[in-house]
Amino acid sequence: MERIYNFSAGPAMLPQEVLEQARDELLNWHGCGMSVMEMTHRGKDFSAIIAQAEADLRELLNVPANYKVLFLQGGATMQFAQIPLNLLAGRSADYLVTGAWSKKAFKEANKVGTARLVASTESSGFTRLPSAAELEYGPDAAYLHLCTNETVHGVEIHDPAAFRTSVPIIADMSSHILSRPVDISQYGLIYGGAQKNVGPAGLTLVIVREDLLGRAPANLPTMLDYSIQAENGSMLNTPPTYSIYVAGLVFQWLKKQGGLAAMEQTNIAKAKLLYQTIDASSLYHNPVDPACRSRMNVPFTLNKPELDESFIAEAKKQGIVSIKGHKMVGGMRASIYNAMPLQGVQALVAFMQDFEQKNA
Ligand SMILES: *Cc1c(COP(=O)(O)O)cnc(C)c1O
Repeated sequence: MERIYNFSAGPAMLPQEVLEQARDELLNWHGCGMSVMEMTHRGKDFSAIIAQAEADLRELLNVPANYKVLFLQGGATMQFAQIPLNLLAGRSADYLVTGAWSKKAFKEANKVGTARLVASTESSGFTRLPSAAELEYGPDAAYLHLCTNETVHGVEIHDPAAFRTSVPIIADMSSHILSRPVDISQYGLIYGGAQKNVGPAGLTLVIVREDLLGRAPANLPTMLDYSIQAENGSMLNTPPTYSIYVAGLVFQWLKKQGGLAAMEQTNIAKAKLLYQTIDASSLYHNPVDPACRSRMNVPFTLNKPELDESFIAEAKKQGIVSIKGHKMVGGMRASIYNAMPLQGVQALVAFMQDFEQKNA
């Protein structure tokens, strides 16, 4: 059977080479006679796997030495609470709301502490970023939280410097981490669920500057305390071993592709092709300000919504699946993460043009 092009927002496609390697190593990892799934996380084999994964991730993202890399669980959603629980220390924090995900993070932070809104673009349908004049930073914020790629609305912050303040910046990078180089030193903490652009679900990446550790109140549950997780090498309890292993294979695959600078070039080419096709058409429409259109998640609507169902059905016949948009936005959404090859976007674009012609 042929592999299809899966445009799902997450869990999403993984590189075929990674899946093949995982298959080849499934029953007997490196001659040890068992699967990674069956190994103790305290043994030398798994210790080597997690150490290599961390080293490769540090190399790819050029993580400075004064940052800890944590392999956690609970998804990015758990971080919405874990971040304020660890970092507020009785103060409030500033939240920028530019889409569905940062709105959720803001709401959750207010559940466990006090979060202030810096700006929200909700009244313009989350189709743009706020201008400098709209930003109202709080006087004593413990940090500024933002989402650098809004997966549902397709809004990406291409220039984080526009939101630089004197306080640590905390960024939800779930849906574009590893899609481009990032200057980690500009952030206090970055995080993301793995299932979009990193590996299988069940693993959450947190990269945190060391001076932000140790601020948690004494009654914070042990599992939620970043300092304790860091002291224990993310192995306070059983970590998601198989997800860490596959993520490690993805890191090695990324290095083979030439690292994040090379991935960025491919991702720019893929996104450009898709947006050009949308903009040149009279059937498809993307509402996002071109200055902040996402390279990873491309929502678009059909000017004749009565064609939505046949678009999805015809696409499926061409091996193009999971293209239906999020219910909040409607229409379609093509998620084109690292593992989506240029050929997949070319196939989508060819289908879209053909579909438009047939339905003119
Ligand atoms: C998917 C997503 C989340 C939620 O991730 P989980 O790992 O499912 O909790 C949060 N933020 C962004 C930007 C996302 O894309």
